[in-house]
Amino acid sequence: MKWLAKKFVKAVSLSAIGIGGLLLIAYASFARQAAAPKMRQVTEPVPASTRFVEEHAHFDEKDPAGSVRSAIAALGRENAAMILFQITPDTFDHPGRYDSEIILNEVKKHPDKLGITGGGGSLNAMIMKSAATGDAGPNVQKEFRARAEELLREGVIGFGEMTAEHFDGFSPYQSAPPDHPLFLLLSDLAADHNVPIDLHMEAIPQDMALPPDLKSPPNAARLHANIDAFERLLSHNARARIIWAHLGSDFTGFRTVELDRQLLVAHPNLYMEIKTDPDAHGRNYPLDRDGKIKPDWLKLFTDFPDRFVIGSDQHYPEPPDADKRWQETILLFNQLPAGVRKKIGTENVAHIYGNAVASFLRAAKN
Ligand SMILES: [Zn+2]
Ligand SMILES: [Zn+2]
Repeated sequence: MKWLAKKFVKAVSLSAIGIGGLLLIAYASFARQAAAPKMRQVTEPVPASTRFVEEHAHFDEKDPAGSVRSAIAALGRENAAMILFQITPDTFDHPGRYDSEIILNEVKKHPDKLGITGGGGSLNAMIMKSAATGDAGPNVQKEFRARAEELLREGVIGFGEMTAEHFDGFSPYQSAPPDHPLFLLLSDLAADHNVPIDLHMEAIPQDMALPPDLKSPPNAARLHANIDAFERLLSHNARARIIWAHLGSDFTGFRTVELDRQLLVAHPNLYMEIKTDPDAHGRNYPLDRDGKIKPDWLKLFTDFPDRFVIGSDQHYPEPPDADKRWQETILLFNQLPAGVRKKIGTENVAHIYGNAVASFLRAAKN
């Protein structure tokens, strides 16, 4: 609506310099006509050509029931079998902090269509606090384990969204070494309880200055290397399945095909979510200007068909003033070979999350 307001300001100022009331009316009616269809091009959504699970979505914590309604309503037009909600990674001193409990009862009404991870608003906050204070002693570990087990008892199907490097946005700037003792403990808990960890982490192979298009503060001016530490986390417990979120949404410039490939080869317990946000391409975007998958990314997806899932980071209800993340991600997905789509769409999520997802996908097929 900002655009409309600008048009009116322009019309009013033209009138003020004496061009006359008629022109004002003409401008105002032009503005109304031009704004009427919507600022963004409205086109019919293109559904996935193979059924898929949206493995990384968010919800409005102030309207859990409405968010669930909106996600359920989206399944058909997206050709999605299920949508899994993640909890925004957060810190204790951020007033908007919440965790899975805020929506869990609503999600549990639809176990065949929705699932939810937990810990973004609590376990992640505990890690950030521990990284800041330097206290990762037995009491802190005991409390962390108790909270993780509580979440699992309540019915979360994974730990997420956790972060090791997160730029300021929906939640504050956050940074912690991915091999922090609490991350290592979390990977043991994930392995023992057979649930995955979803990790948001900007790629930083070496210490570097904050990229110039980002602001400090709130972000740190210097960023600490995290890829070696990430590899230590991946090696710590080979039975822990770790999903590195947001491939396609790289804001340091180092989440390249080469880095992803190297880590996938070295760590069989590593998985990656594909997210292409038309409003924020970042660097190393997998699609070219015409929306076609770039050949080196296509080769990565087809070389490791068992290691990717669709995690578009779509928010439900869908924000009316933003392009749809799920749509851009599905336009990428639809270009993959059919056999690869089947794996990335549903089979890999079923493998990563086990029966919390697999049993419902099986049931839906029969
Ligand atoms: Zn994220
Ligand atoms: Zn997210």
